[in-house]
Amino acid sequence: MQIITEPCQMQAVVEKLRLNRQLIAVVMTMGALHEGHLSLVKQARSLAGTVILTIFVNPKQFGPDEDFHRYPRPFELDASHAKAAGVDYLFAPSPEAIYPEGFQTTVQTGAVAEGLEGMKRPGHFNGVVTVVTKLLHITKPHIALFGEKDAQQLAVINRLVRDLNLDVRIIGAPIVREENGLAVSSRNIYLSKEQRESATVLFRGILHAEKELAAGRTDLAAIAGEIERMIAGEPECRPDYVCFVHDNDFMTAETAEPAREYRLLIAAYAGTVRLIDNRRFTT
Ligand code: AMP
Repeated sequence: MQIITEPCQMQAVVEKLRLNRQLIAVVMTMGALHEGHLSLVKQARSLAGTVILTIFVNPKQFGPDEDFHRYPRPFELDASHAKAAGVDYLFAPSPEAIYPEGFQTTVQTGAVAEGLEGMKRPGHFNGVVTVVTKLLHITKPHIALFGEKDAQQLAVINRLVRDLNLDVRIIGAPIVREENGLAVSSRNIYLSKEQRESATVLFRGILHAEKELAAGRTDLAAIAGEIERMIAGEPECRPDYVCFVHDNDFMTAETAEPAREYRLLIAAYAGTVRLIDNRRFTT
């Protein structure tokens, strides 16, 4: 595995790979690699001859009160996980390499990025699509894989690729969970033992929705309210939002209609740690 830190060097490498007709897949992460990230690498490995993993803690997608400075950066460990998972190139640029002095051009998101995470984290998705656009231009992949764990991000990136005619195939990969149902996340390391137990309420909320919808209920807003109360009832937990949306455009859905696709989105705090989870439902 080769480690590359300079955008121009990465571009020179992919230029050669493309000339040699190599199929390139990229997995973009902020590091602190876990089973969720590695499942994306594994899928990438099965789809392409060359796998690039990017590690970049993107300052532009963190709000001023968020955890940019304390975000975990275990680079040596990440590199050994990446190598073991079969990554060919690890691209790990510095913030200065991605945003050199004078940087001023950004990509703006639209309606799909306005609610939910976009509302709670102003500027977040503009930061995401700006860096994703840059990393796509630097790594020039045929395929880019993203986790459904960040479902709104995936929808925003699909929109970006369609709207700007980016020549890449986006693949969404299923959420990897711990045995207790908690979605694997780099931020889970911040959780105490008790908070980790309480945090399983997000998954229990998903199971509640699954049961109620299977029983034929259509009152999505009421089910979301029940999940909020489940979260509020857990020690050290509080809901940030619980919401059903139409899966195609992420607009809020109050009542379910037959043969439609909805997505339940949950954001909640366990202590000071903000967690998200989601599940798609077909009625
Ligand atoms: P992050 O490092 O948090 O920016 O995540 C990098 C990529 O890994 C994103 O596409 C995430 O959606 C994906 N990812 C994070 N956690 C999981 C998980 N538990 N299961 C599947 N994909 C995940």
